[in-house]
Amino acid sequence: MMTDCIFCKIIAGDIPCAKVYEDDDTLAFLDIAPNNKGHTLVVSKKHYETILDTPDDMLCRIISAVKKVAAAVKKGTGCGGFNVTQNNYRIAGQLVPHIHFHIIPRIEGDEFKFWPQGKYEEGEMEKWRAKIAKELE
Ligand code: AMP
Ligand code: ZN
Repeated sequence: MMTDCIFCKIIAGDIPCAKVYEDDDTLAFLDIAPNNKGHTLVVSKKHYETILDTPDDMLCRIISAVKKVAAAVKKGTGCGGFNVTQNNYRIAGQLVPHIHFHIIPRIEGDEFKFWPQGKYEEGEMEKWRAKIAKELE
C-alpha cells in the first residue's frame, strides 16, 4: 500500500466508496465525479502506477473484472453503450497514479467527444508507423 494514494486508502477501508463489486484482485466503485450517472472505476487492489507497470497476469484479471462490471453497468443503468478508458501519466489526464479503468455509460445525446480527430500529411503516416514498429522488433 502507498500511504499517500487515495485508491490504496479506499481499498484499505480508510476512505469510503460506493462499492459495486470486488474480488481477490480488484475493487469497483462509482466515480465521485461521473461523466454520466453510473460511471464506475475498476481498480487494482495492488498498487501499480500505469498499465506499463502492471504485470500481464494481473492486467488480465483486471480486464476480466472490467468486462464483468461493464455488463452490470450496461444492464443496471440501461445505457445504450459504454466507453472503457484508462489514463496513463499526468499528461494523459491520469490524476490518480494507481491503475484503474473507467467504465462510462453512454446515453443518446450526451455528445461526449473524447478525442479531436487530426490528419496525417502525405507520407507522414509511414514515418510514425516506423517509429513505433521499430520499438516492437
Ligand atoms: P484518472 O483521471 O484516470 O486518474 O481518474 C481518476 C478518477 O478518480 C477521476 O474520475 C475522479 O473523479 C475519481 N476519484 C477521485 N477520488 C475519488 C474518490 N474518493 N471516490 C471515487 N472516485 C474518485
Ligand atoms: Zn495506490
